[in-house]
Amino acid sequence: MTQPVFRFAPSPNGRLHLGHAYSALENARLAADTGGRLILRIEDIDTTRCREDLVAAMLDDLAWLGIPFEPAPMRQSTRFPVYAAAAGRLRARGLLYPCGCTRREIADAVAAREEETGAPAPRDPDGAPLYPGTCRGRDPAAILAEGRLVAWRLAMDAALAAAPGPHAYARFDDDGAPVPVAADPARWGDAVIVRKEIPTSYHLAVVVDDGAQGVTHVVRGKDLEAATDLHVLLQRLLDLPTPLYRHHGLVRDDAGEKLAKSLGSTPLADLRAAGWTPDDVRAAVRAVATGAP
Ligand code: GLU
Repeated sequence: MTQPVFRFAPSPNGRLHLGHAYSALENARLAADTGGRLILRIEDIDTTRCREDLVAAMLDDLAWLGIPFEPAPMRQSTRFPVYAAAAGRLRARGLLYPCGCTRREIADAVAAREEETGAPAPRDPDGAPLYPGTCRGRDPAAILAEGRLVAWRLAMDAALAAAPGPHAYARFDDDGAPVPVAADPARWGDAVIVRKEIPTSYHLAVVVDDGAQGVTHVVRGKDLEAATDLHVLLQRLLDLPTPLYRHHGLVRDDAGEKLAKSLGSTPLADLRAAGWTPDDVRAAVRAVATGAP
């Protein structure tokens, strides 16, 4: 059997908080339990929001917590050509199309459709209306010739024809056999795969890098559980293996009465300044994990 590979993949666009610590510590615990590797990946594709001082602060917080990540974390901001190549493969198969719509135009098109049908527009799992398809089926060259900045969207119907379902992945728990989970990528509609200002999206970069790093076990918060449905489809389209997944509760949601809700988003740095030790953080996280008061 190959050695398991776990990764913690924070975005340095703010200070790490207790929720991040929970995720990092869960990855560390499971890697230790299974004799697995533990990788840190810095998801800094958003070069305006991810700042160097926040990267340094994040590394400092993780070092303080004492989590034994392998040295030399991957930085996604160094890998734009790799993501561009992956997008190029999808584009060459006609699975992406350019879209110059602004947020305003999308909102207007959605509102017009709602008015026309008298029904609320379908929404993605994050609650955003699905892209109404304005640019789908238009001549890509004509869209590009308009000279607007474009995003590249997944042509969901074409993608599902290229990689027919049923789609699924496996969830792993502390013990027992992996549990199959059905995935429904279509609920994301024509998702943005390459953003306007950045030559990738979170979805594309995470799938490409989990594949490139041989990640076998993805442990992350429940807020990303629904995104896995789309990730599974992208893995199929890019010939990448699908890791096992585990989506843990969010500290903010699950915090018991004693662990005040606000603590979940309190920066670790503030807890440190208030005298918390790494063991205090571990104890707080354990309390959340077990639901103990
Ligand atoms: N970078 C993402 C975040 O900080 C997490 C990515 C993942 O674990 O898949 O929310």
